[in-house]
Amino acid sequence: MIIDFSKYSSVKIGGICDVKIINEVVQNDYFIVGNASNLLINNPKNLAILGDKFDYINNCGEILEVGAKTSSYKFFEYSKKNNIGGFEFLCHLPGFLGGITKMNAGMKEFEIANFIESVNVDGKWIKPNFTYRNSDITGTIYAIRLKTNDIFSIQRLNMFKKMRENQPKGASFGSIFKNPQGFSAGALIEKVGLKGRVKGGAKISDIHANFLINFNKATFNDAIYLINLARDEVFKKFNVLLDNEVIIKE
Ligand SMILES: Cc1cc2nc3c(=O)[nH]c(=O)nc-3n(C[C@H](O)[C@H](O)[C@H](O)COP(=O)(O)OP(=O)(O)OC[C@H]3O[C@@H](n4cnc5c(N)ncnc54)[C@H](O)[C@@H]3O)c2cc1C
Repeated sequence: MIIDFSKYSSVKIGGICDVKIINEVVQNDYFIVGNASNLLINNPKNLAILGDKFDYINNCGEILEVGAKTSSYKFFEYSKKNNIGGFEFLCHLPGFLGGITKMNAGMKEFEIANFIESVNVDGKWIKPNFTYRNSDITGTIYAIRLKTNDIFSIQRLNMFKKMRENQPKGASFGSIFKNPQGFSAGALIEKVGLKGRVKGGAKISDIHANFLINFNKATFNDAIYLINLARDEVFKKFNVLLDNEVIIKE
């Protein structure tokens, strides 16, 4: 299938690429694209996306089995409807459950790893290791088994909504960098004076400096320029090397 990443990805940057659809559980060498909410793509080859048969939710009692193509919002809605707690943060996290699991996505200490019972990678159920916004999963995620032991909480949902109030609007891929231990990446970028810096159609947000906004047909190179600039300036001034949260695929 042909995907135009300037339309499909959340940051609205990228070329028109031929993407294989995976309809069966197989080991493969493709780079798997999820919902492209954490991707900065130029024009890569060898991409694949899961087919719709991996978009499902099975309730197995204390465990929910979720297909990796299931959207975070669909899963959030399911948990709300069925009074299942813990997943309220997914209301504000774009992605498919495969991408959410691979990235160990979350908000503050609320992250998907807290609920993972096992993950189907290349057809085998495994127990991966998770770290801050990452996992050691290397193959294709087809399904995820999640533990449920709580009831839905409107208070938690409101807390996450509040956390989102200072999030910039506009096309982005979420945070550019992970927060280094003990620091906020956004505060460091702000302190080197890059808040609001523009390159072509891309901008370091003037609301939150760890966000890159595509405000006017930004190119891959516009975004890369600003990412490198922020990393270099922060390193020069604070001797802190920022690590990308966004996944870049040339
Ligand atoms: C406005 C906005 C706000 C955001 N806020 C947050 C936040 O607060 N916290 C947070 O953690 N993230 C945040 N993000 C980033 C994003 O929501 C997460 O990283 C999410 O996990 C991306 O899922 P995806 O399906 O879009 O993955 P993609 O962006 O498509 O891919 C991300 C990575 O996962 C891999 N991948 C995807 N699917 C599979 C699969 N089935 N098998 C193996 N590998 C796979 C890809 O190869 C890639 O390496 C935000 C993004 C946006 C646009």
